[in-house]
Amino acid sequence: MISSENLNLDAITIRFTAFIMDTKNMGFNTICTHLGEIKDEQFKGAISPIYMSTSYAFEDVDVKRYPRYFNTPNQEALCKKIAKLEKGESSLIFGSGMAAISTTLFAFLQKGDHIVLQRTLYGGTANLINEEFEKHGIEFSYVDSHTTEGFKQKIQPNTKVIYIETPSNPLLTIIDIKPIAELAKENDIVTIIDNTFASPVNQNPILLGIDIVIHSATKYLGGHSDILAGAVISTEKNIDQVFQVAKNFGGSLSDFTVWMLERSIKTQNKNALKLAKWLKKHEDIATVYYPGLKSHPDHEIAKKQMTGYGGMLSFELKEGLDASKFQKELKLIKSSMSLAGVESTMLSPTLTSHALLTEEERNLQGIKDGLVRFSVGIEEKEDLMQDIQQAIEKVKVPELEH
Ligand SMILES: *Cc1c(COP(=O)(O)O)cnc(C)c1O
Repeated sequence: MISSENLNLDAITIRFTAFIMDTKNMGFNTICTHLGEIKDEQFKGAISPIYMSTSYAFEDVDVKRYPRYFNTPNQEALCKKIAKLEKGESSLIFGSGMAAISTTLFAFLQKGDHIVLQRTLYGGTANLINEEFEKHGIEFSYVDSHTTEGFKQKIQPNTKVIYIETPSNPLLTIIDIKPIAELAKENDIVTIIDNTFASPVNQNPILLGIDIVIHSATKYLGGHSDILAGAVISTEKNIDQVFQVAKNFGGSLSDFTVWMLERSIKTQNKNALKLAKWLKKHEDIATVYYPGLKSHPDHEIAKKQMTGYGGMLSFELKEGLDASKFQKELKLIKSSMSLAGVESTMLSPTLTSHALLTEEERNLQGIKDGLVRFSVGIEEKEDLMQDIQQAIEKVKVPELEH
């Protein structure tokens, strides 16, 4: 028979809290591997057990546990790991990146408020703003330039939030984070950043003065292309404000996925810089967008605020070479709607991630039809180069005459 002691959830909480307490100087990779683990004291298993229960006793426990309150043992444990990775005090995890984004925005904006956003946003975020905000009486302005001055010009007396995404999708444009954070502080404005593309491996915006960091954990935090999740990281106070809205919107994550995500968090590869350099020199490639390249217009800013440049890059083939045929000819690199798996993938933003935008909106963002977005995986770089090379050669062969 299982004794009541074994079922005491407070004891579990205490165990993993205690475990976290000696981690002040823990390195990044060790945090990824161990922080927020639920120690299996009962059976001494090496990994965190999964608690799938959606029903928890309410007598004799201080905390009312329920998955939609974001406080099951697995949820709490993972939130600690993610908060630590992003140098925040606290975090919440959601059923998708969009659940994290929408909940956070609605937690800090109400009727009559105004938000300033960069133009080059993830397509789903842009749709949320364009399709939902007017209904709720929230005003918004997009900034076309990526300069601090551009953001400053759009601030109004009712501006409550500045929202940025750097590096941006799909052109990897960089925003200078620190001066934006300072500008916002001077004006009592909350700053929110979508840090998905950088991942905590390469950029910790909280250290640069940003208030709230959001991730689509479907991408680098998940890293294996098999889970849908989101995360928000900030101070305890801000996270509580997000939580108050989150429990009403109900976008929480199933404990099985929470457990998968805890398993998945891992560091990313250094292949992208090598591939970007190779593509840059390639005679059949017209342009490469990668913040790690010296030729990238924002390289100096990226160098200042990032510790690495991430696994995402984009490129355009030389004129006359068909980008969609090129992608069909790839053998190793898969075509994919998403990004940031251990496997390399490519997509055409025009046909996928930014398909819902009008052509005019895409032009404003500088997204050409032939643009290819490349999520560089952990395969040997030589194999990736060879695959790209053979696909380009096939595209260069003139169509056979009938
Ligand atoms: C994918 C993505 C999102 C949305 O995340 P979901 O998990 O698909 O809801 C938000 N921002 C960026 C930058 C993304 O790449």
